[in-house]
Amino acid sequence: MPMSQPLPPLPDTFDADLGLDLHMHSTASDGALSPQALTDACHAKGVTRFSLTDHDTVAGVAEAQRHAESLGMRCLAGSELSTLWRGIGIHVVALLPEGASGALVPGLEAQAQARVSRAQEIARRLEKIGLEDALARAREQAGSERPLGRPDFAKALVAAGLVPDMPTAFKKYLGAGKPGDVKTHWPYLSEVVEWIRDSQGIAVLAHPLRYRLTHRKRSQLLDSFREAGGEAAELISGHQNADVGRDLARQLEARDLMGSQGSDFHYPGGPLAPGVMSAPPRCSVTPVWRHPKLARFAA
Ligand code: AMP
Ligand code: MN
Ligand code: MN
Ligand code: MN
Repeated sequence: MPMSQPLPPLPDTFDADLGLDLHMHSTASDGALSPQALTDACHAKGVTRFSLTDHDTVAGVAEAQRHAESLGMRCLAGSELSTLWRGIGIHVVALLPEGASGALVPGLEAQAQARVSRAQEIARRLEKIGLEDALARAREQAGSERPLGRPDFAKALVAAGLVPDMPTAFKKYLGAGKPGDVKTHWPYLSEVVEWIRDSQGIAVLAHPLRYRLTHRKRSQLLDSFREAGGEAAELISGHQNADVGRDLARQLEARDLMGSQGSDFHYPGGPLAPGVMSAPPRCSVTPVWRHPKLARFAA
């Protein structure tokens, strides 16, 4: 039953405890909770506005939106797209107030196809290090027919006893520069930003502090992203270092990029939950929810 209580409008500035999380995953990609269960988890945590941003898909959005509406919450359609920039795997969150349309629709189909061929290549490489029938084992870990990701292969490596845990699986075999880190299937950053713009969406650079870039290289990435038509970056992503967060705020201010915030929540029981993230740094970055396209979401 719809709740009658209207939501208070979002403020013009970053603030702790806005009940707002614009980056989360469900079982439509590598998250542990179904879109409905994730929405319930948001509700339990006081997150009243959120975006479901599964990797390279909007498949879970309709279910989350239906359930959110029934609870008096707002769910913004979204997706986290895998891209390449100068050989580095970069993630872009698409906030999609109008849903997926235009060039983003074939774009997402191409991403799904890229995941299929990439999974075959990852499997081939992991078989060389002793994981027999790697593709079938990853599929078993996924537990559904959704596109596979590296976490499925990480779980398969753990289940086969080749590594003790997920972090080790990434450290030895799947993380950046390791044999199972196959990125060449992803489109260039600027192309993905174009798809998002064609879908009337807002392109948000995901977790700018998680690519292990120097300040200077991060500046170059932000410049490229802005030039391609990107409009915002995640000022806050989960738990981050306060000093580096302030430095990032300065970089966004200098480029007139808006700021977003999200937990990047994947599964319960870890250090993250819906709406859980570091406090915003003192800054004059414009919150992405002030974007005209998000006026209804923020009102
Ligand atoms: P993929 O989308 O296939 O490239 O897989 C990337 C996903 O793997 C990320 O979104 C995380 O959910 C997960 N991941 C990346 N690095 C690690 C790590 N070191 N430990 C555990 N999970 C990770
Ligand atoms: Mn993930
Ligand atoms: Mn990401
Ligand atoms: Mn994510």
